[in-house]
Amino acid sequence: MNILPFDDRDGLIWLNGEYTPWRDAKTHTLTHGLHYGSCVFEGERAYRGKIFESARHTERLFNSARLLDMKMPYSFEAIEVAKQDLLDKQGLQNAYIRAFAWRGSEMMAISAQHNKIHVAIAAWEWPSYFSPEIRRKGIALDISRWRRPPPESAPFAAKAAGLYMICTLAKHEAENKGFNDALMPDYRGFISEATGANVFFIKDGALHTPLPDCFLNGITRQTVIRLAKEKNIPVIERHIHFDELKTFSECFLTGSAAEVTPVSRIGEQEFTPGDLTLSLASLYDAAVNSG
Ligand code: PMP
Repeated sequence: MNILPFDDRDGLIWLNGEYTPWRDAKTHTLTHGLHYGSCVFEGERAYRGKIFESARHTERLFNSARLLDMKMPYSFEAIEVAKQDLLDKQGLQNAYIRAFAWRGSEMMAISAQHNKIHVAIAAWEWPSYFSPEIRRKGIALDISRWRRPPPESAPFAAKAAGLYMICTLAKHEAENKGFNDALMPDYRGFISEATGANVFFIKDGALHTPLPDCFLNGITRQTVIRLAKEKNIPVIERHIHFDELKTFSECFLTGSAAEVTPVSRIGEQEFTPGDLTLSLASLYDAAVNSG
């Protein structure tokens, strides 16, 4: 693939309070975050130079850190200012923003009580997660054999690096079978989410979406629910069985990166992206561009 590697680009990365040349924003190989998954991160998007729901993303970053027993060494305001400054300094308009925090190298064992918490922010131009062609047709989802763990087994409300291990496995298996992404069951066998986005279904003019009781309650998910309710579209949050797939007429994914992406197939079940999906996609588009 002809994509510039992420460690070899021009630009600046905000690293522990300093605007660092992109290629110099490094960490040591012996880093707790790398070996033990003690890293939390955000994925955000800016439209026309302004970050959509910036404060909510920063709040989630702090909450994720707290859930992993990591104390952020910067204030909420400092991160808010740094994210916007980083975009402004680089003249980025339609961009993806990755803010993250991880444990450093002071201790390299399970216990990491005294490790320094490092924080960095990077941003890059990124028009679309799925290509416009794929988005128009709708994407195909494999049904993953990997399950979201029970709430007692993972800090599911944290956007934590370690929770993505099975997502990459599920996504690779899906891609190897010719799908674009995977839909994951939860520990009980209910539908949970895709590997990096939440899922919605449509039946008789109403939205049905899994209850986020063991996976991330995405900021885009919450925005789409609000937009739907404002238009008097009923929204039903509940446990959804895979058996029910045949009863739904439309399906779409939501995420800061995925935005509102129509789904055309889940396993053998086909869906035709229709008016309701398209109108929610336009409402979301209007909301993100209204800032
Ligand atoms: N679930 C997972 C696993 C994700 O990675 C994401 C993307 N952050 C989402 C859901 C959607 O979250 P948001 O709408 O806040 O981007």
